[in-house]
Amino acid sequence: MLPATIENAIRQKSTVLWLNDAWQPIGEVGGRSTLGLEDVRNAERRLGRYRSLLATLFPELRAVEGDIESTLKAGDALPGLMLHTKRESGRWLMKADHELPLAGSIKARGGFYEILAHAESLAIRSGLMRAGDDPSVLLSPRTRACFASHRIAVGSTGNLGVSIGLIGAALGFQVDVHMSRDAKRWKQERLRNLGVTVLVHEGDYTTAVSSARELAKRQSDTYFVDDENSLLLFLGYSVAALRLQAQLSALGVPVDSQNPLFVYLPCGIGGAPGGITFGLRHLFGDHFHCFFAEPVACPSMLVRLATRDDRPRPLSEMGLDGKTDADGLAVTRASELVASLVQSLVSGIFTVPDEHLFEDLYRLHQSEGERIEPSAAAAFRGPDWILSSEAGHEYLSQHSLLSHLSNATHILWTTGGALVPRAEFEEFIERGRCLARQRTEASSLA
Ligand SMILES: *Cc1c(COP(=O)(O)O)cnc(C)c1O
Repeated sequence: MLPATIENAIRQKSTVLWLNDAWQPIGEVGGRSTLGLEDVRNAERRLGRYRSLLATLFPELRAVEGDIESTLKAGDALPGLMLHTKRESGRWLMKADHELPLAGSIKARGGFYEILAHAESLAIRSGLMRAGDDPSVLLSPRTRACFASHRIAVGSTGNLGVSIGLIGAALGFQVDVHMSRDAKRWKQERLRNLGVTVLVHEGDYTTAVSSARELAKRQSDTYFVDDENSLLLFLGYSVAALRLQAQLSALGVPVDSQNPLFVYLPCGIGGAPGGITFGLRHLFGDHFHCFFAEPVACPSMLVRLATRDDRPRPLSEMGLDGKTDADGLAVTRASELVASLVQSLVSGIFTVPDEHLFEDLYRLHQSEGERIEPSAAAAFRGPDWILSSEAGHEYLSQHSLLSHLSNATHILWTTGGALVPRAEFEEFIERGRCLARQRTEASSLA
């Protein structure tokens, strides 16, 4: 059952912060899960083994020696973007996945990882590679010929398709990307330019994924990347936690009982924010607090976690159509696999209307010059919720954080944007400028 205040907010499409009453100290979670930090470390090791192969396949990655990672940027202007928070203490950072090489979004993490793992196991099964062999054998003509007779299929709102399309096509696979009818045209174009087959389905993302899954079942040569149910995507994303830990330590930022860490992550189906949260909770335990952001039009993870129901009521029954300009988050059903893995790890989830996305991406561009896409702006009101709302105060007080806020670190995770065409971005900016002006005018009248 949803608490009445949460359900009312969802039905009215008004913003809300839900606190996870199933949150548990990591000591109580650890033993129960079949997945642990060792799995995250193994995933990182695998990515490490593939660095030189990636640098060979993609000239863009040579300078970084095949390491697909983003910078952790000082966000000096970030506190100024908060609308309700006067207290501007603490450290403010931005994890700039909008600039991840090649794919320009957080999907590079999960997508590349799953396809490399798949290619490796297919090559081993086909007798073209032995476990422990140098991954460069995947580039041999024999292996490529084998991959060329195999297909990879994925359902995507855009960014996952780009990520899978890039690595899949580079390794020589045929790639099919199934999209919903409201997938952005330029994302479809970009995929076709990669040599990927784009199939556009009537209906929403969940429908596109289901049709793709059914189709793949009937084709024995097809490997289906199941965004709704993929442990490999989850593990690929989780590696970001180890990377962030290293970056924080390089900056000399401590995370402990006196120095809490808050991370704000946009959430679609759940894999990306879920994997990262899983890794960070295992690394930083109860000193790490993570809040997901979802559009008011499709708070699917919120409903799933708040009800603890593995078959939650469809959002349409609450009058929601799932339509949002945050196309990367336009998911009406959360991944059950991810939900069950993060049920007791997540601190809470807040919701965002589309207007805030445009206004915030505009204000970020004004102050820091960053170019992010609407989905990536979803987390920007997070610190306001935590530091300046009643529910936020409740969380801070329950976790005895009120006296440590001046030492807190806030990280806004900007999940995508580098590939947005210039003209499209100009439209985002224009829309954000109007919304920002309307808001300032309204508040000066009040
Ligand atoms: C996919 C996506 C997310 C969310 O990731 P999920 O795994 O779907 O929860 C956030 N931001 C952007 C830009 C994305 O493309």
